[in-house]
Amino acid sequence: MNIAESSSNEQVIRHLSPSSASTFRQCPRRWKFRYIDHLPDPKGVPALLGTFVHRILEELMLLSASERTNQFARNIAREIWPEIADDPDFKALLLDDEGTRAFRWQAWNLMESYFEMEDPQQVDVLAAEQRLEVDLMGVPFLGIVDRTERIENGLRVTDFKTGKAPQNRYLDDKLSQVWLYAAALKAVDQPVSEVRLMYLTGKFIDRKLDDAAVENAVNRHFLTWKSIGNCISDSRFDYKLGPLCNWCPYTDSCPQGLAEAERRYGPRF
Ligand code: SF4
Repeated sequence: MNIAESSSNEQVIRHLSPSSASTFRQCPRRWKFRYIDHLPDPKGVPALLGTFVHRILEELMLLSASERTNQFARNIAREIWPEIADDPDFKALLLDDEGTRAFRWQAWNLMESYFEMEDPQQVDVLAAEQRLEVDLMGVPFLGIVDRTERIENGLRVTDFKTGKAPQNRYLDDKLSQVWLYAAALKAVDQPVSEVRLMYLTGKFIDRKLDDAAVENAVNRHFLTWKSIGNCISDSRFDYKLGPLCNWCPYTDSCPQGLAEAERRYGPRF
């Protein structure tokens, strides 16, 4: 698609998810490479671990409460494993048998940690991996909600995280994702009373519904959508240099980002 000929965001992208918005805020050029040019963005080990564990949890949550046991989770992991093993991004890692075993252990360790954090038989699951497509302040929002559960005083939305819990200064940014989910669930008549980030490395981050935080998150999403629209109509996506350039999959297409990564971490081969 010729961006310059497009008059609106919707002609270029159909939805704006929290992760897409976050990529844009991080670096508009990276966003363009990924969401407009569709350059490959292969998943590394952490993202593939996240995919594997989320799939196990999704299937586990769909079982009846009495079946949500450690043994059932193991069976699910075995059933799902071929999906991961056949994923081109996993194959591209070129792991040998030992590396593959270590990967599976890492995934299972996260599941063991999950079972230490909560008893899934006690969770009153309303929905798992719920796809939400709603209008938020005129922005076509898309989100996949890991889990919504009934709690004593209403509903709680939970997002599972397989990485490390963030430092306090990054917490608001992480919470904005679940605040957006709260807004989207309200739009489909499932208003929540609490939000939860569940870091399977051992930490819950819980908040009661905070209308001001929800409003801020929706406003920020709207402003990101507007900025994307400006970039599209100007056909101009500026680069934003920073430490993340070193982990950006597009440094080969971004001379400034490559120079930044080399300045920080030394020359590449
Ligand atoms: S290398 Fe850095 S500046 Fe270039 S696209 Fe990636 S994040 Fe943006």
